[in-house]
Amino acid sequence: MSNAWSVERWRITLTLLAIPLLGFTLSNWTLAVVLPLLGYIAWNLFQFYKLEKWLRTGAFKGKAPDANGVWALIVQQIYRQQRKEKRRKKRLSELLKRFNATVAALPDATVILNGNDEIEWANKAAEQFLGIQRNRDIGVRIANLIRDPDFDAGLKKFVKELNLELGSPINPDMMLALRMVRYGKDKKLLTARDISQRVELQRTRKAFVANASHELKTPLTVISGYLEIMQSDPKLPPELADAVDSATEQAQRMQRIIEDLLVLSRLEGTLLSHNSGERLSIAGILGQIITDLQQTLSGQSHRFVLDTDETLFLRGNEAEIQSICMNLISNAVKYTPAGTTIDVRWYRDSAGHACLDVEDNGPGIPAEHLPHLTERFYRVDAGRSREIGGTGLGLSIVKHVVQRHGGFLQIDSEPGKGSTFRACFPAYRLLS
Ligand code: ADP
Repeated sequence: MSNAWSVERWRITLTLLAIPLLGFTLSNWTLAVVLPLLGYIAWNLFQFYKLEKWLRTGAFKGKAPDANGVWALIVQQIYRQQRKEKRRKKRLSELLKRFNATVAALPDATVILNGNDEIEWANKAAEQFLGIQRNRDIGVRIANLIRDPDFDAGLKKFVKELNLELGSPINPDMMLALRMVRYGKDKKLLTARDISQRVELQRTRKAFVANASHELKTPLTVISGYLEIMQSDPKLPPELADAVDSATEQAQRMQRIIEDLLVLSRLEGTLLSHNSGERLSIAGILGQIITDLQQTLSGQSHRFVLDTDETLFLRGNEAEIQSICMNLISNAVKYTPAGTTIDVRWYRDSAGHACLDVEDNGPGIPAEHLPHLTERFYRVDAGRSREIGGTGLGLSIVKHVVQRHGGFLQIDSEPGKGSTFRACFPAYRLLS
């Protein structure tokens, strides 16, 4: 560096020495001062031009202007910056390579979409699961490759997150769990996981429960038939009458369990498509259930408060929705003492969901039972449930119906204060 400065000092000294030399030779001191200074400035301007040209044309090493003086210092600084930049670029490209290799090796299909739902990037698994060819489909709208009405509807209404299960567009035997989230300014990250094994296992279990229930149904009908004949036989010895009554009751209970198991196996793991279902007046259904219940003995012992939005209609399966309304209200009657108040509400909540609340001020449920209530055959008090004819499958059915309609079930309870069962449905299921 000091060498570069001494060269520059020499240049300045020579320029200054030229002044007296020219002054004495030309006898014109103005020219003698101006000419060397102009020469120095012009030479520097020329170096400046060469440097600019060198930078503009790629700043290649060896082609740098003037390897001496102050210009050499500038060139050296540029070289240093270039080296630093090269090292940084190398580090970044290695990082990017490692990141790409990691994402490419992910077993789940990963796709990045832009604001127009066009593919910006996809990994290798996206080819196997979704048929996205990375060298062909960049810039193609995802809806052109995944042709599914539910995906299409979900994409159109997409705000923050989308979860969907559907068949692979290139392999009908493969079931995929699709998840899409928003990130960055206007980007979407779509992942697809192969859930064929889980679906197959579910299908086998479902088929087994359905087949076993069907197989049990026929002999049970025969047994019930014989029990009925015995019950109506006037010659039945009185000491057997109680036993026959009890057997009939148990046979009826078994029939209800089998019916509920069949309903559950039909519901399980199925999702009602976004635009299917009838337009249901929940206010009407709830009003009818309560009127019917009030005609029965147990219904008369409770006080009902009905608060429903009559303008809020639900798109759903009538029999299924009716069964959840019935289940929740009859549970509130069955598991609370006479004199209990039961509040039934149907309304739109602040998040835009439509919710059905069945709230009672009965004995409530201890907290440790709450997470298990929707499990099959789970009862807080098994003896009491059996006594009043429960199958232990009611809330399990409720949860599956709600989930099948895209909603969720929430249970809050406090011992001594009462319980609230809340079934909420997504905004896309609402009709006015
Ligand atoms: P079941 O068909 O036997 O009635 P459910 O699945 O409907 O079974 O309910 C599971 C358990 O939840 C019941 O055994 C009962 O103990 C409890 N339960 C349900 N609703 C209420 C309620 N409103 N208050 C107190 N306990 C309840």
